[in-house]
Amino acid sequence: MQAFQLPKDFLFGTATAALQIEGGDRNNSWFRWCEQGHIKDGSHCILADDHWNRVAEDIDLMKKLNHQVYRMGLEWSRIEPRKGQFSTDALAHYRKEIELLVKNDIKPLVTLHHFSNPLWLEDQGGWLSEEVVGLFERFTEVVVNHLGDLVSEWITINEPNVYLAMGYVTGEWPPGEKNIMHYFKGAKYMIFSHIKAYQKIHTIRQDRGFKDTLVGVANHMRVFDPQHGTAREKLSCYLYDLLFQDLFIAGMVAGRLIPPVGTGYPLGKGYYMDFFGLNYYTRDIISATWNPAALFGKIEVKKGVPTNDLGWEIYPEGIYRISKQYYERFRVPIFITENGICDKHDRLRARYIYDHLYQIKRLIDEGVDVQRYYHWTLMDNFEWIEGLSGRFGLIEVDFDTQERKIRKSGEFYAAMSKNKGVSRDMIKKYLADSGT
Ligand code: BGC
Repeated sequence: MQAFQLPKDFLFGTATAALQIEGGDRNNSWFRWCEQGHIKDGSHCILADDHWNRVAEDIDLMKKLNHQVYRMGLEWSRIEPRKGQFSTDALAHYRKEIELLVKNDIKPLVTLHHFSNPLWLEDQGGWLSEEVVGLFERFTEVVVNHLGDLVSEWITINEPNVYLAMGYVTGEWPPGEKNIMHYFKGAKYMIFSHIKAYQKIHTIRQDRGFKDTLVGVANHMRVFDPQHGTAREKLSCYLYDLLFQDLFIAGMVAGRLIPPVGTGYPLGKGYYMDFFGLNYYTRDIISATWNPAALFGKIEVKKGVPTNDLGWEIYPEGIYRISKQYYERFRVPIFITENGICDKHDRLRARYIYDHLYQIKRLIDEGVDVQRYYHWTLMDNFEWIEGLSGRFGLIEVDFDTQERKIRKSGEFYAAMSKNKGVSRDMIKKYLADSGT
């Protein structure tokens, strides 16, 4: 293992999502999903980290971790609790939170949609509703009118592909459907919503004289590699790439629809992304035969490789491969908007961070413009269908007492953020027992 240095202006922080940390909101699709008993470990999102009441304490922890940036989410159901009615209290709460971040020199990157919907929207068809594009645009407008003087950087939608695959293909997330045509319909509306929101944010801030607006999407990207390298497996990998990733990228970056979602550029050909947000976790190995019933092949995990608590392969080179590929294609700066590991006992996290940042160093050396790294995540939280037991935090949380404790990997991350790199001493102190 070697010491390495990143550029001095490279920025470090963490990413979170409102529903996963805030607690206290009963007006969203995930609250109902929990109530219906879908969470694997039987836990619930109603309290989560109680962050809604602990904003100041959590920002203090970010300071201890030497954050320069922080990616946070807004809960749509709090801001617009009933269709067309906006809560000035909720907007004031977020304003105070953002002011506190700014006061602490932590630059916010704000996500407008991260997997959860207001119940009124869910009940009218969620992201399949004919009205959703206009509704999301109106929500964006209200938010940016209220917070746009403080926030210059925005993510419209987090991982549209994961949201739609889990909600409409596997059916494990709300609304629990198994209908691939709905996945495609939702993709179309999410692409349109992103473009409309992109334009809206830019227009509002430009009219107010701001010139530093950045808008993007947090794209969940995986590596798909064939198990044996057969032509059939390569075809499967191509299909996964196309329908799970490229479909969204083509739409959200350039406005282009790919069949079966659509064709051409219905909202105009453009460039609707000021940075490429990359959420990277793992790779999938695809095995496939010519059996026509199994069009997509099977998703597997490579045998004998290190995995996280959820069985996902730890594959640092993937962050390199994806960043390189998309940078060559679009040439916009890359923000790693999520990257992290479910590791309850904190055995692998420091090494995971080291290995992924090492790949980022490689990218930068080769001229790829990676500017930021938002680790997923600040503290243990409500990990969707895995519930409170999926632990991704740099900070360990005792959900009974809400006590927070910085993990050893969190200390390593704090040192890395401060030094913008890894020194020999840090390797000795934090990585000595993690192999060579
Ligand atoms: C999501 C997060 C989630 C993380 C770990 C990403 O897909 O954006 O909300 O907690 O992965 O599973």
